[in-house]
Amino acid sequence: MPASADFKQRLEARLTAIAEHFGTPFHIYDEKGIRETCTGLSEAFSGIPGFQEYFAVKALPNPTIMKIMRSMGFGFDCSSIAELKLSRRLGACGEEIMFTSANTSRLEYLEAAADGGCVLNLDDITFVDKVPEMPELICFRYNPGSRRTGNSIIGNPVEAKYGVAHDQIMSAYRHAIERGATRFGLHTMLASNEREYSYMVETARMLLELVEWISGELNIVFEFINIGGGLGIPYKPGEKALDIQSMAREITAEFDSFRERHGYAPKMYMESGRYMTGPHGILVTQAINRKEIYRTYVGVDACMSALMRPGMYGAYHHITVFGKQGSEEIVDVSGSLCENNDKFAIQRSLPKTEDGDLLLIHDTGAHGLAMGFNYNGKLRPKELLLCADGSVELIRREERLDDYFATLDFDPDRLHAC
Ligand SMILES: *Cc1c(COP(=O)(O)O)cnc(C)c1O
Repeated sequence: MPASADFKQRLEARLTAIAEHFGTPFHIYDEKGIRETCTGLSEAFSGIPGFQEYFAVKALPNPTIMKIMRSMGFGFDCSSIAELKLSRRLGACGEEIMFTSANTSRLEYLEAAADGGCVLNLDDITFVDKVPEMPELICFRYNPGSRRTGNSIIGNPVEAKYGVAHDQIMSAYRHAIERGATRFGLHTMLASNEREYSYMVETARMLLELVEWISGELNIVFEFINIGGGLGIPYKPGEKALDIQSMAREITAEFDSFRERHGYAPKMYMESGRYMTGPHGILVTQAINRKEIYRTYVGVDACMSALMRPGMYGAYHHITVFGKQGSEEIVDVSGSLCENNDKFAIQRSLPKTEDGDLLLIHDTGAHGLAMGFNYNGKLRPKELLLCADGSVELIRREERLDDYFATLDFDPDRLHAC
């Protein structure tokens, strides 16, 4: 049974009581499933000494979930001051944190260096001079350029805003050495929601080749390569899951062959978000209105503030109706925003619903609530955790009007006309 089906079963056994107790809408996450995925990943890559996952905090920046990640031995991949602070509040420090930011500000660099620092991953060659203090250990994010990805979210890396270009990468390390760096890593992230594992194997091979080339030229040793995140999950029924076992076996072989040639191998890091928590979250929302015009609309009590992916990327999220089976009608499932993109499903076949039905929007455990916004004054819902012992815990309250109005509480300030 797929992880999310097992979760659905355990959730539905108690859903009436949970919805009554906490009220809808809410995202609920599955501790058991998350832990199993974590264990599976660590075991798959146990053949590479020093393998380390840095959970991509932006996927699910909830301290309770992050504590689970930490208890599984994972570090954190951060891209903002808030994410750095969140990670440090949980006790992570130094090389347990990777800071992979884009278009980075000076303030962000200062925060990255504070409180025991972190592994700094620079996104551009100009940052070698802009980083206030060059740390001992430095990493660059590499953008290979015209290497085709066939991936719709990141697209052709030539058009992606990330990383150091191929013809700059050698100078980037050379210059970092001049500024005092003595320890090195190499990073890239080329995929998003990629379920074809060979793509990740290719990425690892490409980075190892790059390591060979750069270390030969500059006479340096690389401590790690980081193949980024982007591991995909099946959102649609019938889609094949990523074959993590084959991916791990083939990447391990790449490392073994590198070790044979050079007498050592770097460690391998990864910074998955979606793969770790995506399938282990469900957005539970109640049908509150039914509207029949040119199409039939099932209006629910959640909206884009809880989940942007369908509206933003046209992404598919599977929807089931609690206690109902079959596919009796074609509907759009819509939120309450005055924005026509505010739909969780378009022309979807669902059982016949009525007001009061609970809809389960699946696979919302990554890039779900975290991406939500307050447009139209819509507030974000709460987050719950279905704990391993079967209890259900509130792990973030819903936003309230006071939160929305908080930025209107400020001291008067005016720059007068001259
Ligand atoms: C978003 C992001 C990730 C996580 O991506 P997933 O698709 O959730 O695995 C990892 N690393 C970086 C630098 C990112 O920006």
